[in-house]
Amino acid sequence: MTGAPPVKVLCITGWCRNGSTILGNILNEIPGVFHVGELHFLWKNAAGRGVNEQCGCGHKLVDCPFWSTILPIGRPAGTTPQAHADTVIRRQLGHTRTRHTWQILARGPHNEQVRAQAELMTRIYRAVAERSASPVIVDSSKMPGEAALLARMDGITPYYLHLVRDPRAVAQSWSQPKQYVYAMSAAKSTGYWTGFNLASHAINRRYPRRSLFLRYEDFIAEPAATIDTVLRWCEIDPASNPMTDRTVQLHANHTVTGNPDRFHTGVTVIRPTDDRWRSALPASARRTATALSWPLAQRYGYLGERG
Ligand SMILES: [Zn+2]
Repeated sequence: MTGAPPVKVLCITGWCRNGSTILGNILNEIPGVFHVGELHFLWKNAAGRGVNEQCGCGHKLVDCPFWSTILPIGRPAGTTPQAHADTVIRRQLGHTRTRHTWQILARGPHNEQVRAQAELMTRIYRAVAERSASPVIVDSSKMPGEAALLARMDGITPYYLHLVRDPRAVAQSWSQPKQYVYAMSAAKSTGYWTGFNLASHAINRRYPRRSLFLRYEDFIAEPAATIDTVLRWCEIDPASNPMTDRTVQLHANHTVTGNPDRFHTGVTVIRPTDDRWRSALPASARRTATALSWPLAQRYGYLGERG
């Protein structure tokens, strides 16, 4: 420990297509807040094995002025970037997956591999905070196993934002490939939706005072007020809220990956509704999403009389 103040990591959990990229990019506009995108994929994407090698700034990650200085951190001398990426990916897949969440919550870094991953991530977060001059990092990875490990990292203060979206809207979003993002069936998407949200719940139950639950639909209904709530919760001055009603001015960012909209800059308006799935999602896929997300979706208020 260097005696430096703790780094706050605002960790967005839940399942993909929940609006985490735009929420992170809005927060990224606040001085002292830095959205890293889905940091989980840094090594995989930089090694050219992920779905997208590009940083939000437009450079390849290996050429990005920010990430090119972070990538060598924790890489043993004499190890190639490819071999280091292999090691990190192997640890992620073998020890910090969604199914490992409960074990990590109960036991922390309980073996050598989890300990090594926690040490690497501690160094990475601290370096990101230092080099971006930002005491708050927003990580939209949404990997519950890694999120659970955050609370056991030296010098890191986690804030868990559990962000959920109607599983039928999520299934519709996954039904079509877009740019570098592949498609997924309603059954597969909703299976992940349930698993990731259950694990995110477990984290919130373990760390209730550091956790906030948010529905995507409530965020887009009142975006500026929602950002206010998020800022107060993680003890950031709400006066720094970059939104005016539904509008925010976005600048280039250094997101590792996320929704392809992350490359969008300029004046951005958050639309108030999200009901395209009602006409676009086939009835069979809708039934599948409803069946596989029950009873969680009902608890979140998605399967009421309008469903
Ligand atoms: Zn960049």
